[in-house]
Amino acid sequence: MPHLKYYDKERETFKAQYENKLSNTEATHIYKRLASRYKLRQRLCVTTRSWGGNCSRYRIKVCNKPPVAILAHEIAHAIHWKTRQSGERWHCKRHETIMRRVLRVIETNLIDWKEMANKQSEQRAKSFEHRLQRREANIEYSKSLEGKLERTLAGMKRWKTKQRRAETALKKLNRRKKLYERLLAKSQ
Ligand SMILES: [Zn+2]
Repeated sequence: MPHLKYYDKERETFKAQYENKLSNTEATHIYKRLASRYKLRQRLCVTTRSWGGNCSRYRIKVCNKPPVAILAHEIAHAIHWKTRQSGERWHCKRHETIMRRVLRVIETNLIDWKEMANKQSEQRAKSFEHRLQRREANIEYSKSLEGKLERTLAGMKRWKTKQRRAETALKKLNRRKKLYERLLAKSQ
């Protein structure tokens, strides 16, 4: 079981980093930074699992609230993947060296990146709230327009009835006028 041995050793070597858990937002932000730095094409997927991770050609999976070391371990696989010699094992000295380098980069920037990740997620939450409020306001407005439209239509209906009545009355008057005109002509 060379894999298990490798993991055990790694857990010991990077004990502190295995105990340093990130929030999912922080992990996502840190991954974005490193993916652009090392030009990785994998997409990060934070799962609901409580431990572990894996790395394939297109995707890196990490557990929920991953420790810094798990994230670095999988990122190291992705970097290693790009330059791996055929026959070279996944868990080898080179992987460890790369992981150490990745951890150094993460640890140098950790405070800044965490802060930025949390600020961004706060902003996203705010803008979401804002969008929600605007949508609600729009719905309110369209409801009020609907009310107005209904009232206008009802008013129009009343005016149409009035118009029809007036037209009927006018026709009657015209008929009477013609009758009088005829009577007048006869009497002259
Ligand atoms: Zn591995």
